[in-house]
Amino acid sequence: MLGLLRRAGHPITADPASAEILIVNTCGFIGKAKEEAVNTLLDAARYKTDGVCRTLIAAGCLVQRYADALREEMPEIDVLIGVTEYPRLAEIIDGIRASRLNGVVTPDGVRVPVVTAVSPVTVNTPVFECAPDTPRVITQAGAFAYVRIADGCDNRCAYCAIPSIRGPYRSRLIESVLDESARRVEDGVRELVFISQDTTRFGMKPGDSAARSRLPLLLRRAARLPGEPWVRAMYCHPVRVTDDLLDTLANTPGVCPYLDVPLQHVDCDVLRRMNRWGDPDSILRLLEKARGYGLTLRTTFLVGFPGEDDAAFRRLYDFAESFGFDRMGAFAFSPEEGTPAFDMPDTPPESVAAERLDALMRMQRSVSLARNKSREGGETDVLIERIAPHNASRADKGLGVLYEGRSQWEAPESDGVIKVRSVKPLVLGGIARVRITRARHYDLEGESI
Ligand code: SF4
Repeated sequence: MLGLLRRAGHPITADPASAEILIVNTCGFIGKAKEEAVNTLLDAARYKTDGVCRTLIAAGCLVQRYADALREEMPEIDVLIGVTEYPRLAEIIDGIRASRLNGVVTPDGVRVPVVTAVSPVTVNTPVFECAPDTPRVITQAGAFAYVRIADGCDNRCAYCAIPSIRGPYRSRLIESVLDESARRVEDGVRELVFISQDTTRFGMKPGDSAARSRLPLLLRRAARLPGEPWVRAMYCHPVRVTDDLLDTLANTPGVCPYLDVPLQHVDCDVLRRMNRWGDPDSILRLLEKARGYGLTLRTTFLVGFPGEDDAAFRRLYDFAESFGFDRMGAFAFSPEEGTPAFDMPDTPPESVAAERLDALMRMQRSVSLARNKSREGGETDVLIERIAPHNASRADKGLGVLYEGRSQWEAPESDGVIKVRSVKPLVLGGIARVRITRARHYDLEGESI
């Protein structure tokens, strides 16, 4: 969106108090995300009375899912833009500025948005970034960039609203992804992080069960781009983790030896209710195979799902504890309208789900520390991303500079960081050789060699 606006000649500011138009890009797939999006919209709306803002635009998944409710209940919003309509953003803004409209009042006195641009997502809806000339403004800090390789999902997990928001699975063409990746690397990005709702389905046509995922090929080709970026894949569905993928992750220079495979649960009955793949034996076989390849393993679990009784949770807890994931995230179940799980019986109370979440994450904290300790004394390449926020006092004492970065075993924004002490200056966005000197629960400390 920012790239399109910049190309259309609109100056961009990150300071909401000085913006004439405010755009809130929303998330809407679980309760907490919806709450945060609505609060952000309400905060932004204050700038219409206290600042120079004339137009408030709500975009993204919350709008796609709840356009009618937002029209009725949030008259502060002037424009609603669903997930398929981003390419029209600049044109819509031009129209609003030309008309100087700021909301429309219907004959019965109700104020409604000037524009509602929300269309259903179909199998033919292109993935937003696919146009080769679509510009991008990278907003996240650091030397990495997310590259969306596909959009939508065909998996229909019983708790998940994403397929109804983002539509059926559509892959970009491999050349399109490589083209965008090459441009990101030319811009100075050192690590490409491939994302989609189901990364392992990349390149597979809908309904073609004989088709093979092209993710391994994409990873191999991206790692050979000029500039030799690090390349990482997130959100691999366990059912499509093949030997080819494991071998590519483990044995391709530049491809991060890291498997992010959200499992959600391990109890057979809970998995069946979730409409998810696997049972404890098949999951363990997959994980042991991946570990045999030497990969760092990350997973995500969902607790408090309908039917998860104490015994089912215990099975999950024991499994996670005995396997010892390098990285693990967990969420509490959020019942979402329109999903099969919304009406399922036997949902544990929220307080029980919160306790289970807490217990699981406390256990993982110890596991994570133990796994980090095994790296003490070792050496690793670290992508230097920034000077640590609390560096100043160290520099004053002549202790060198404290940087933050990540090795190929830490994914950005999900995992911990490596704090690197160095008396010689290190290049931000460059790779430094680092000896690990101390393990923390999630982060590591080291010194440049
Ligand atoms: S694979 Fe992920 S995005 Fe797709 S339905 Fe399941 S949880 Fe949702």
